[in-house]
Amino acid sequence: VLMIAMPKNLPQPQLKPNTDVVLQKRYLRKSLDGKLTETPRDLFWRVASAIAAEEGKYEGSSREPESLARDFYDLMTSWKFLPNSPTLMNAGTDLGQLSACFVLPVGDSIEEIFDAVKFAAMIHKSGGGTGFSFSRLRPKESRVGSTGGVASGPVSFLRIFNTATEQIKQGGTRRGANMGILRVDHPDVLDFIRAKEKEGEFNNFNLSVGLTEAFMQAVEKDEHYDLRAPNTGEVVDRLRARDVFDLLVKKAWQSGDPGIVFLDRINRDNPTPDQGEIESTNPCGEQPLLPFEACNLGSINLSCFYLPGHNDDADPARAGIDWDELRRVVHLSVHFLDNVIDASLFPLPRIAETVRRNRKIGLGVMGFADLLFELGVAYNSQAGIDLAERIMGFVQEEGHKASAELARERGPFPAYPTSLYAKKKKGPYRNATVTTIAPTGTLSIIAGCSSGVEPLFALCFTRNILDGERLVEVNPHFEAALAAAGLAGPELMDSVVAKGSIQDLDFLPAKLRNVFVTAMDIEPVWHLRMQAAFQRHTDNAVSKTVNLPNSATEQDIFDIYWLAYKEGCKGVTVYRDGCKSIQVLATGEGQ
Ligand code: UDP
Repeated sequence: VLMIAMPKNLPQPQLKPNTDVVLQKRYLRKSLDGKLTETPRDLFWRVASAIAAEEGKYEGSSREPESLARDFYDLMTSWKFLPNSPTLMNAGTDLGQLSACFVLPVGDSIEEIFDAVKFAAMIHKSGGGTGFSFSRLRPKESRVGSTGGVASGPVSFLRIFNTATEQIKQGGTRRGANMGILRVDHPDVLDFIRAKEKEGEFNNFNLSVGLTEAFMQAVEKDEHYDLRAPNTGEVVDRLRARDVFDLLVKKAWQSGDPGIVFLDRINRDNPTPDQGEIESTNPCGEQPLLPFEACNLGSINLSCFYLPGHNDDADPARAGIDWDELRRVVHLSVHFLDNVIDASLFPLPRIAETVRRNRKIGLGVMGFADLLFELGVAYNSQAGIDLAERIMGFVQEEGHKASAELARERGPFPAYPTSLYAKKKKGPYRNATVTTIAPTGTLSIIAGCSSGVEPLFALCFTRNILDGERLVEVNPHFEAALAAAGLAGPELMDSVVAKGSIQDLDFLPAKLRNVFVTAMDIEPVWHLRMQAAFQRHTDNAVSKTVNLPNSATEQDIFDIYWLAYKEGCKGVTVYRDGCKSIQVLATGEGQ
């Protein structure tokens, strides 16, 4: 591992309130007897220097690795940008696996199925998550040539992957997460839709049904559609599309599972169709990938780019943001993520080859809800949507410029000449994709900001994290706004802690109640519109949950699914409050 000596005057990072706990639990290196062997400063220097050291091999580079390492260190410890967890954990170590997202193929033979189980175990051990499509497996009860027996089908094999994950997670750095996808035209689709009916089943999987354009049109026209055995190509059955869609809606209403992804739409945006078809995404759905492909993500903390005193009530989307600094950070972050590809060691040669051919990266944002609070713009408003479009449009445009600059210095990604970009005379780019909106589950805790592009779950809450430990949090922007209005006080805070929301507190000024909205205060349609706004400016996809109140009906979910389709989303995940007994985040009520 290449390393650069730490400069003598390197400042200590100023940690956010919860950063220490999280870093100690999972990120700081430990000796075999469990003692910490690095400080947060060591960690961020380890990462910065390992990623910058890759610069040395590019003759065309205008940067010295030493000064670049310092820029990367400052970038991360200002909390303006963080790479995904595996990069923080493993950069500059012998393991050296830096990507959060992988997709593995599952072929229709025992050998191929168990290869995939083994590869997934190796990836989970290194902190990555895996996505699979089970669509190539022959349906249950079809014949198995070599034995004369009958096949057990995708859902039954899914159980093996789930159990393997369960065992690996005991020893790994974090929970191995999985995505399982089945095409809607697979004969076992109804079993798959019902797979998570019993609570606790397939707990290590997010499941999504892969919807095709033909299926969506059949729903629209109320027609039947064909179910096809993938091994023979034969049509074995026909189903009424609306019945299947209604069942999907019903299950999502009951448990949030399965979600849906629009497979044809994902493939329409596949930048390298000659490299293969995209059949799955990573576990949280934001990163569609080819079989054997991996992607490393990183997120910019938008709340750092607020310029106080520049609010403009007439056009809030215009003012209050330090665009020049955002541009600088986007360019440096793209550079960082491109170097991560070179620094990463992959668990299989096949994965390393696929990754280095397309060089996908996923730069996204977090702290969006915080920025809205700072600007005084409501999430559930046209101004909120306009701001999202403006910011992500900017990140997308500058991100692509940065990738084009890297291509001039280092050459385009090797598959560029046969990519859609080359056909459309765009680029050349260094990376087949540049942007992705990740959930930033842990990154947002380290950076002390709201996660991804989600609204706050509550203005005050206790957070259950990492093996039962709990953290109490009051949103600092909310606290500041209350103080500015002369409203802070223990009694008020008690009512906010109990509810999480201030919508029922009529004595508070309307402006405050309009701006400080939480996930449950926001009507589902605004959640969806926000997802669509970010998707319009993102190469890959957007991790987002559409929250619904417990009282939401199946028709409400149907409407959201339909709107997601019409608005151009790549998939959608809904969650009806209280439909599962275990929730990661909870407000005071009901605890
Ligand atoms: N992921 C995983 N296990 C986890 C959390 C995340 O495998 O426990 C993977 C998964 O592919 C997910 C991606 O990391 O889609 C990004 O998740 P997130 O942004 O929440 O990760 P962070 O970098 O904040 O830890």
